[in-house]
Amino acid sequence: MNEIVRVRFAPSNTGHLHVGGARTALFNWFFARHHGGTAILRVEDTDRERSTEAYYDAILEAFDWLGLEWDEGPYRQTERMDIYTEAAKKLLASGDAYRCTCTPDDVEEMRKKARAEGKSPKYDGTCRGRYDKDPDRPFCLRLLTPDEGETVVADLLTGEVSFPNEQLDDMVIVRTDGTPTYNFCVAVDDADMKITHVIRGNDHLSNTPKQLLVYKALGEPPPRFAHISMILGTDKKRLSKRHGATSVLEYRRAGFLPEALINYLVRLGWSLGDQEVFTRDEIIENFSIENLNRSAAVFNPEKLLWLNQEYIKTGDAGRLLALLEDRLHERGLDTALLSREARLALVEELRTRAQTIEEMADGARIFFTPEVEYDEKAVAKFLKPGIAAPLIKVRDALAGVEPFAAQGVKTAFEEVLEAEGLKMGKLAQPVRVAVTGGTVSPGIYETLCLLGKDRSLSRLDAALGKIGD
Ligand code: GLU
Repeated sequence: MNEIVRVRFAPSNTGHLHVGGARTALFNWFFARHHGGTAILRVEDTDRERSTEAYYDAILEAFDWLGLEWDEGPYRQTERMDIYTEAAKKLLASGDAYRCTCTPDDVEEMRKKARAEGKSPKYDGTCRGRYDKDPDRPFCLRLLTPDEGETVVADLLTGEVSFPNEQLDDMVIVRTDGTPTYNFCVAVDDADMKITHVIRGNDHLSNTPKQLLVYKALGEPPPRFAHISMILGTDKKRLSKRHGATSVLEYRRAGFLPEALINYLVRLGWSLGDQEVFTRDEIIENFSIENLNRSAAVFNPEKLLWLNQEYIKTGDAGRLLALLEDRLHERGLDTALLSREARLALVEELRTRAQTIEEMADGARIFFTPEVEYDEKAVAKFLKPGIAAPLIKVRDALAGVEPFAAQGVKTAFEEVLEAEGLKMGKLAQPVRVAVTGGTVSPGIYETLCLLGKDRSLSRLDAALGKIGD
């Protein structure tokens, strides 16, 4: 591509950034990076009733978490009103827009009449060519739209889609209260920002002919469009809250890694052979609109979990630990109970089975509570009076292990097993319940080593006290 690529992602701050929007943003962002172009963030915040500052902040926070940096923006449409006013004036002066003094009731009548005549309901053009005839009446501005011919969207993905002009309204571009309308702002912005490619959801396809007419009136070349398919839930219905978490920040809360979510979302609609796991650089290098799937993609939470697990398995241990510690602190746990070395070793233990950082925090909890939190069912099952004697022996053997490392702990265990004529399975689980309170933890030697000698012994003592109760 010889031209300089300029793309934008244009969320409305009427809700959180959801996975569908994030995927659209990613396609734009990777397309720009692939071509060494510019990626712009433009927040469409003109819906005064539904837009909020909290959503605006949350959208930026979601991008911050994903690590997507925009080359320009965030622009906000509410801060660009002068630009829309200028554009409207220009169209009024050129005759491409006209003042319309019809009331909403008048327009409703026209629509009814058209419907009754079997025509598409639209404004009938009453005020065309009668500019300034009623200078005192309130007016809106309408775009003069040809009655004949067609407006063609040459979509990079779906091919040419034709819209007969006869069905298109002389759309309002500035309302009676002076505010510009949605499709007008979008087209004026895209023209002003010299956007070369608009990649967006195909739910916007019906807006595109309207925006093309604005470009034409402005005398600006339109961008190229790629309308991407929607994301569906496993029931093949459009993805919505019914299907579970949809907002990007919910995935952060649930313990997903941003690179896993990015990988999953990009792969959901874009492919490069059978490859499933991509680095950011690999996506940048290979991304192209041509490789976007034309059919709708199905959001599969299981596959996202699998991918997240892949990233957890291979991620930098120091970073995973920092993420884990944040969660443990949120739970009010004192991570200083383990040395950094032990905490890093714990990450290595947990990362082999956890699918999310939240699951890692669940697994790590037992190491950071000041006292053991007993699962009474496990206690009843495994800490029966008959186990007291072997547990005392384990306790004493462990007390003599120096340094307190896996090999020595293992030897101590084996000695007790032999002396007591017990099988490992009979002893490991009671010890586990004694030192962790429950039946799930890393290997028993590793668990003891991570806890350290002092805490292992005092937890065994506490459990022995419990058996004696
Ligand atoms: N603001 C629109 C939305 O959030 C996007 C408009 C566009 O990409 O042209 O759906």
